[in-house]
Amino acid sequence: MAKRDYYEVLGLAKGASPDEIKKAYRKLAVKYHPDKNPGDKAAEEKFKELSEAYEVLSDDQKRATYDEVGHAAFDPRARAAGRSPSGGGFHDPFEIFREVFGGNGGIFGEFFGEGRNADPTAPARGSDLRYDLQITLEEAVLGVEKELTLTRPEGCDHCHGRGAEPGSSMKQCLTCGGRGQVVSSRGIFSIAQTCPKCEGAGRILEKPCRKCRGSGRSEKTSKIKIRIPAGVDTGTRLRSTGNGEGGMRGGPPGDLYVVLHVREHEIFQRDGDDLICEVPISFTQAALGSEVDVPTLTGRASIRIPAGTQPATLFRLKGKGVKNVQGYGQGDLLVRVALEVPTHLNSAQRTKLEEFAAICDNSSHPRAKSFFDRAREFFR
Ligand SMILES: [Zn+2]
Ligand SMILES: [Zn+2]
Repeated sequence: MAKRDYYEVLGLAKGASPDEIKKAYRKLAVKYHPDKNPGDKAAEEKFKELSEAYEVLSDDQKRATYDEVGHAAFDPRARAAGRSPSGGGFHDPFEIFREVFGGNGGIFGEFFGEGRNADPTAPARGSDLRYDLQITLEEAVLGVEKELTLTRPEGCDHCHGRGAEPGSSMKQCLTCGGRGQVVSSRGIFSIAQTCPKCEGAGRILEKPCRKCRGSGRSEKTSKIKIRIPAGVDTGTRLRSTGNGEGGMRGGPPGDLYVVLHVREHEIFQRDGDDLICEVPISFTQAALGSEVDVPTLTGRASIRIPAGTQPATLFRLKGKGVKNVQGYGQGDLLVRVALEVPTHLNSAQRTKLEEFAAICDNSSHPRAKSFFDRAREFFR
């Protein structure tokens, strides 16, 4: 394809001044920039053509040669091979563009401020956070409101999460010329790689926010309240929507997951929705029967121990356990009696017990009788 005249490309007459050349290039380069015409091959070609024309006409020496011999002076086929396959002996059009516009962040800001997405500069959701929280059994059983102190990245208030110092904007990445990729040649192959400077975004912050250094977030400590419902247990995970890490560059925040750990209780143990409590009683209470006070998580209750109660007997107090966290009723309180054998008997007690023992027979201890009947053959 025959090359168009460089002056014609820029819409200029032959004697145009350097200033006119620059102005014409600026106007047209912005119009045909690939970022403004995504996927438009014709615009891309035009952009390259403009860049080439400008590169030659803006350089006094090149312009003089061109005026003399025309395109042949810059024909890559006429030179030794080895320049970049796309450049054809000319500089990267994006580099030219950058050189011309580089000093003017304002234009770049407007020009690149919109239309791009799916890149590392786009808003992104913040990460979820996990918070391990210890609570007491009472809190787990009855429910509680807790205030957590969290230090987490939140949207930077200096740059409003944009990452750019207020008043500044994004500028084109110089390394890749805004394409997000760098192309290198290996013989006949061109290898495109994600630009290491801008990580594929094609643009970088002109001036990163001085507070968050461009991340759009800053570490903040804040207090948040969470409501722990009655019936939770160790391992229960509560989600607090939107209380995770702040979003990147204005993206939505992540969620906070509060993982509960219920501390051991000195009196109650937990078994699902039931509570278990061991209550020591004396052997006379067990033998004679008794009314015994037992603790519950909501106050005192009493159980009736019938005469002849054996060790480890369980008494069930209906509905005195844990309210089911999903609302399926309420567990029970199981009271296990532990028989305490008296120690340190004084002489009066000892005398009475010896008298008691003297008048005991097998009929008052049926289990012992049954056992020794069965064990008799081993005693020979
Ligand atoms: Zn900031
Ligand atoms: Zn880049």
